[in-house]
Amino acid sequence: MPKIVIAGNWKMYKTQSEAKAFFSEFPAHLKATASQAAIADQQILICVPYTNLAILQTLVPSLGQNNLSIGAQNVHWAENGAFTGEISAPMLVELGIKYVIIGHSERRQFFGETDETVNKRLKSAQAHGLTPILCVGESKQQRDANETESWIFSQLAADLVDVDQNNLIIAYEPIWAIGTGDTCEATEANRVIGLIRSKLSNRDITIQYGGSVKSDNIDEIMAQPEINGVLVGGASLDPAGFARIVNYR
Ligand code: PEP
Repeated sequence: MPKIVIAGNWKMYKTQSEAKAFFSEFPAHLKATASQAAIADQQILICVPYTNLAILQTLVPSLGQNNLSIGAQNVHWAENGAFTGEISAPMLVELGIKYVIIGHSERRQFFGETDETVNKRLKSAQAHGLTPILCVGESKQQRDANETESWIFSQLAADLVDVDQNNLIIAYEPIWAIGTGDTCEATEANRVIGLIRSKLSNRDITIQYGGSVKSDNIDEIMAQPEINGVLVGGASLDPAGFARIVNYR
């Protein structure tokens, strides 16, 4: 069974003091919403802005929550160099970071990420022992034109060249569902994720759904057999709401 990974993506939200305030509340909310049926080996991950990585790596071990990790939202493919504004895998590894989002649709849409750069970032992350979360997904236009499958398959084919499928998480994030409140039907997300899995050489990969996940739709999403977790944007910013998502049952 693929491991369940419930991840937050804070995007460009929270200063250091706001991040510390989140974690001063989050453990209590986790305890308050914990249920008998909680899954033993579930991983909780929060991918934060670079400026919060070091401080949270110091703070999180003191919270007594062994299954909680801090992750990054991108990584460059070079070890170092003249790449102003970028962060390398060794920089993340030295902080003890283990997970990094790569190829988020906001990076592809607003910052010119291509399948080629996504592939380079994936390979560099893995070469340094990081576990990437590769984001794929179609636009509304592509969905309406019945191009969902062909688009996602082309993303996977290009992004996964020479990528190790034994150290990888995939997030299916339909672009039209991100930050819109317009969640993809759980059964439809399950169908697409099943198709993604059918294209992989390692069928045991954790595949998440992302796109307007909230505390009131998490139960239905996680009830789907192909879905092994979620990548949560807006709803991961609130400690009570995200704790309810983590403890979805
Ligand atoms: C995301 O940022 O990956 C995301 C899915 O955002 P939201 O949950 O806000 O739709």
